[in-house]
Amino acid sequence: MLEGDELDEINPEESLRTFKDLLNESQDDENVETETSAVQDDVEELVLQLYKAENEPILTRGKHVSFLKKSLAKLSVYNEGLDSSRPWLCYWALHALNILGKRLEEEDSLKVVNFLSKCQHPTGGFGGGPGQYPHLATTYAAVSALCTIGTKAAFDSINREGLVRLFKSLKLEDGSVLMHVDGELDIRGVYCAISVAKLTNTFTPELFENTGDWIAQCQTWEGGFGGCPGMEAHGGYTYCGLAALVLLGEVDKCNIPALLRWIANKQMRLEGGFQGRTNKLVDGCYSFWQGASFSLVNTILLNEKKCSFNKYWLFDQRALQEYILICCQHRQGGFLDKPKKDRDVYHTSYVLSGLSIAQNSPLPLIIGRRNSNTVESTHPLYNVVHDCVERALEYFKKLPIPD
Ligand SMILES: [Zn+2]
Repeated sequence: MLEGDELDEINPEESLRTFKDLLNESQDDENVETETSAVQDDVEELVLQLYKAENEPILTRGKHVSFLKKSLAKLSVYNEGLDSSRPWLCYWALHALNILGKRLEEEDSLKVVNFLSKCQHPTGGFGGGPGQYPHLATTYAAVSALCTIGTKAAFDSINREGLVRLFKSLKLEDGSVLMHVDGELDIRGVYCAISVAKLTNTFTPELFENTGDWIAQCQTWEGGFGGCPGMEAHGGYTYCGLAALVLLGEVDKCNIPALLRWIANKQMRLEGGFQGRTNKLVDGCYSFWQGASFSLVNTILLNEKKCSFNKYWLFDQRALQEYILICCQHRQGGFLDKPKKDRDVYHTSYVLSGLSIAQNSPLPLIIGRRNSNTVESTHPLYNVVHDCVERALEYFKKLPIPD
């Protein structure tokens, strides 16, 4: 773990881990090779080669921006209704651009607002494409994208009465929330619903009665959260569970020391990035899913007066930034899960969100050149850039909560 006082003395530009340091961090398979240990060896070798080259960690911002803009433009080219994740593509691209400090021109923003309006179902909530049934994941993505755009037209396009209707139709008596009518049930449902409800001021405690208790049942013996009670601890579900409990104001239902122990052990010693589950490989997207939980834990510990002001998060922020900037950037823009994998908009969005978390501790910590590498700060509860969250909360606060 990082010692804040020691870090103060270190110039982040001179504090990169050396190739020699890393040689000692390889996994110890205790001379028993398994399928899992063999693939871990392969990844370590790839990552070591990249660290050995001692390339300067530089964020190739311009290339990422053009990759994201191209991805967004494709939305309107493809036949409408072909796939069911188009609000996700809008959110990932807009949010990633925002983290890079780029906003769309007004005309392009309006096109996205109009497209998302077509995905909004007449009864409430957003589907995966025009004319599709509403789903909580795409509702979360659409609302987050609209709040990222943050114009009056974007805010007013959201049918808030419809959102409440959707939440009521999906919430079960035990507190859990379905992803869609007659659909699957896991912890994403509660997070997506509560995040949207809080952002749009449609939240009431009655809507989410028993939900905190249900989430608590998803915390496993490992310390992280599974998708449902009894499932394996997983980085994405852990973020959803913890963020939902914070938004509900029910963090007392979570065993924080067990959680902290689990997330702290998910950062890979050699790679510097995070794995999503025990014994799995590093993956760039967990930079956010696991990284953001540290930010939430820090606030919880401060509120409970279990610690004084921390300057830094309780993980190695420099190592994560090295993994992101040296191992996860695609030469032509966009980010990867790990070296040799292909780029995609999902990983680009969550790797950049993770970079934002890794830089924006109470005292910022930025490796490499500040002017090229600094990114905007994302809100750890919503994963929307901070000032966009504030603007949305401010806007919807003035409107009455629908019944
Ligand atoms: Zn991933």
